Amino acid sequence: MKILSSVTDFLLPRYCKVCGRRLSVSEEHLCIGCYIGLPIVEYDFRTLSRTETLLLSERNIVRASSLLQYDKESDYRKILFHLKYWGHPEVGSWMATIGARKLGDAGFFVDVDFIIPLPLTRRRLRKRGYNQCMYIANGIRKVTGLPVVEHAVIRHEDNRSHQAGLGLFQRWSNAQGIFQVIDPEPLRGKHILLVDDVLTTGSTLCSLIGTLNQSVPDIRVSVFTLAITI
Ligand SMILES: [Zn+2]
Repeated sequence: MKILSSVTDFLLPRYCKVCGRRLSVSEEHLCIGCYIGLPIVEYDFRTLSRTETLLLSERNIVRASSLLQYDKESDYRKILFHLKYWGHPEVGSWMATIGARKLGDAGFFVDVDFIIPLPLTRRRLRKRGYNQCMYIANGIRKVTGLPVVEHAVIRHEDNRSHQAGLGLFQRWSNAQGIFQVIDPEPLRGKHILLVDDVLTTGSTLCSLIGTLNQSVPDIRVSVFTLAITI
């Protein structure tokens, strides 16, 4: 098997997704130097994480954490580019397994029933060809064994950027209607883990959590994002 990997590596060399250096057979996605230097956000359940602070406007959150600090000046942002734009979404699954192992040790997944990846709009999904959050969710599933539920929620087009001429009420109802729960019954009384790629202001996730709280009785929500902006 090792010989086969060596031959494959010779014919199809692989490169570090951060610094671009050629990878050795034993390295996966990142070279050892970039792997050691990953800007990991440590999770401590005794203090409020920054991710939790950003989502505090939704009070029904059980736990929330992010794996990486996203700095637009740092080459580590390329991990997100590979995941979302450069056609290598498998790096998201791999990073998520790293996050899930760390968080699992801290008891982050206790009581969680299943994982829901943040949905894309139909138009975005058609353009990209895949939902990057599904890859992150699958990485967590590999480590925790938690099932992934893909089509529980759909996402409509967000018209907020085109609504300069609308009245206040119309603006409000546009923002409220971005997400829709397809069938609330299987989610009733469950603890779900929402998964997203990058947390910036938290407004999209808050909108989804708000919709879930309004639509599903007794739901509890935790959140994992691959990265958080600094
Ligand atoms: Zn590297």
